[in-house]
Amino acid sequence: MPKSSFDFLQAVQGQLREAARLIALPSEVLLLVSEPKNEIITNFPVYMDDGSLRLFTGYRIQHSDLLGPFKGGIRFHHEVNLNELKALAALMTWKCALMDIPFGGAKGGVRCNPRQLSENERMRVMRRFTHQLGTNIGPDHDIPAPDMGTGAREMAWMMDTYMNGVGAANKNAHRSVVTGKPLACGGSHGRLRATAQGVVHCLSQWAADHDRRIEGLRVLVQGFGNVGANAAFLLDKLGASIVGVGDHTSYLLEPDGLDVDNLIAYEQQNGGLAGVPGAIECSRDDFFAAEAEVLIPAALEGQITEVEALTLAVEVVAEGANGPVTPEGEAVLTSRGVEIIPDILANSGGVMVSYYEWIQNKRSERWEYSKVATKLESAMVRAYCHVRDTAKELGCSFRIAAYAIALKNIADCYEQRGIFP
Ligand code: NAD
Repeated sequence: MPKSSFDFLQAVQGQLREAARLIALPSEVLLLVSEPKNEIITNFPVYMDDGSLRLFTGYRIQHSDLLGPFKGGIRFHHEVNLNELKALAALMTWKCALMDIPFGGAKGGVRCNPRQLSENERMRVMRRFTHQLGTNIGPDHDIPAPDMGTGAREMAWMMDTYMNGVGAANKNAHRSVVTGKPLACGGSHGRLRATAQGVVHCLSQWAADHDRRIEGLRVLVQGFGNVGANAAFLLDKLGASIVGVGDHTSYLLEPDGLDVDNLIAYEQQNGGLAGVPGAIECSRDDFFAAEAEVLIPAALEGQITEVEALTLAVEVVAEGANGPVTPEGEAVLTSRGVEIIPDILANSGGVMVSYYEWIQNKRSERWEYSKVATKLESAMVRAYCHVRDTAKELGCSFRIAAYAIALKNIADCYEQRGIFP
């Protein structure tokens, strides 16, 4: 198991300082982005199905609204905590600045195990949490989206609760308070698979740069939810071979390639990968040591420490998850020549299509899937090439190059606007 001592916030702050040093970021800017602007913590009551009352703790960390409204997902997980969300909120600021979209960074969450809640309980938790946040969110102020443990359904409840609090005349102007909604509620074509699609675009560019093709690559995917399962699905369709998958219930290996459609159907029905008929289960250690060219971590942060990094046999790690590789793990991977496509680049497809959804809502438009897909591809390829070229120019990793681009955009804005008062 990964070391429980992993300090995600410390890791993100270390990466920030490294990039800041490299580009000689003005010290005032570094100071300003070192801490979130607002930290909202709320304890709220919800009735359970059995009639008992439970108190939940919810968070919304608003890191920066310099470049636009705060933007970031809502996580439902039993280990959600303040420091984790502070790290994730900062990553959202860097991600939006890197992708050059007019959003800042935020992250929120409720400390709960969504798998142990009924659908009605999850709905009451989400609605009451949204009510507690009140005017701390808004279409031009702070725009939540799905993250681990939440999806389109939760976003519909959040949007509906918020809209019902703004008065009948304003209701429909507020649909853009949340992105990642179902299509029927003003969601965008392409949003469901957007994060995974962005990972795939990065991998395609990586393959092209190495004179390789996606077809025939062997891929390991850790985490089989929105990001992981969709990445497996898309890569499988492109002719890659998904040789290993894992989630919170089980790890599976099949050197000849797994039947991804079958796995997705099984996971949706059973809530996890454990017990897939005919599949070869393996240990977590064996999964990380398996022969493959690509690893896509798409579960939690801190999964690849120096322990996993020493056994990994892949050529590239494409970070679908946020913060999956610890700094110690990264040092080992780098020394072994394993490349890393960092989170703020690799998984930015989600926030890109969230941005398209927000624009569509604002303009009362519905874009064709092909328009969303084309725009996403060109945004991902442009960002990948920018990071790759910057890494070469600065002589640093892709991660630090991505930070450097983001921080430069932020510093330029501060320089023009000044610091109030
Ligand atoms: P999800 O809830 O849909 O899926 C999470 C998956 O991780 C599940 O398969 C779960 O079983 C697995 N998992 C959980 N704990 C695990 C453990 N200890 N070991 C192995 N597997 C474990 O979540 P998601 O939306 O796919 O998010 C996954 C990661 O991607 C997170 O880091 C999230 O912040 C990041 N991300 C998500 C989006 C998005 O659009 N959903 C966008 C950008 C980044």
